[in-house]
Amino acid sequence: MESEKEILLQVRNLTVTYHTRLGLINAVDNVSLDIYRGEILGLVGESGCGKSTLGKALMRMITPPNEIKSGQIIFEGEDIMKYNQRQMRDFRGRMTSMIFQDPMTSLNPVQRVDEHMVEAIQVHEQKMQMEKALERVRTLIGRLGIQERRLNSYPHQLSGGMRQRVMIGLGLLLNAHLIVADEATTSLDVIVEAKLVDQLREIREEFGVTLLMITHNIALVAEAADRLAVMYAGKIVEIGSVFDVFDNPKHPYTRGLLKSVPSIRMDENEELYKMPGEPPNLTFPPTGCRFHPRCPVAMPICSKLEPALQEAAPKHLVHCWLYQDHPLKQEQAVLSEK
Ligand code: SF4
Repeated sequence: MESEKEILLQVRNLTVTYHTRLGLINAVDNVSLDIYRGEILGLVGESGCGKSTLGKALMRMITPPNEIKSGQIIFEGEDIMKYNQRQMRDFRGRMTSMIFQDPMTSLNPVQRVDEHMVEAIQVHEQKMQMEKALERVRTLIGRLGIQERRLNSYPHQLSGGMRQRVMIGLGLLLNAHLIVADEATTSLDVIVEAKLVDQLREIREEFGVTLLMITHNIALVAEAADRLAVMYAGKIVEIGSVFDVFDNPKHPYTRGLLKSVPSIRMDENEELYKMPGEPPNLTFPPTGCRFHPRCPVAMPICSKLEPALQEAAPKHLVHCWLYQDHPLKQEQAVLSEK
């Protein structure tokens, strides 16, 4: 699907460093990633793997003393790392929009929905008259399935799902090209969550917007996304179409993640698979492949050298020595035969 697609956002060798009491941590470590225009990309991994940090870094929302240490973020051909503060404000409002788990933290509790929406338009189009702005708001909320009477509501009077749709609406009003949704459905009950996921797909179809969905819920991504990127300990370890990654997971970590998802085919007495070990302490990350202390198929090379993120099948990239050659790997294979 993505072969004929245009790249909206390119991330190249991005490293985000946190300054903690225990030392420096690269929460995102040398990550490269392409996001295609109009796709829904799911970004998954255990908590603390760096996925939310990556989402914030894409909008340069990392606050000091933490920092984007190195790398490029190229959006529609421009390196936003070179933008000044004014350009960044415009970029965040007009080109991109971020939705968090609890929209109450982003919505002003004493402002009605219509006030939020009109204000969002007028910040960027100051000359737009109130009536025209309201007309645009009314048209949009209808398409988002929000009743017009809700325009007079305050955020606390809306359901969780409706608040998330208001947040999405704020981005769409400004014609945001990319919406980053960070655990946006986590606080919703499963029925509302499923409905919002359906709506995200409809919104993508109708508005042509690109969505980056950050979640720990791999089953949810299967429903919503076109492609899936899996993160572990600050690295992207696998990325491909949802179909390829679910049907033929290649990285041992992805296989473990998928095995740990409950299935309706399970016996009632069957225990859910639990991946052995814990994610590493990133103050002192393991050498070589960061997954090697937990990997059931680790080889001697895995603790010595880090693999690259390379194609293991067409458009299916994996960060694992199982799919890559190296002289050290062959030497070790010869030694083990002797
Ligand atoms: Fe396992 Fe080695 Fe692949 Fe890492 S590189 S996932 S340790 S096989």
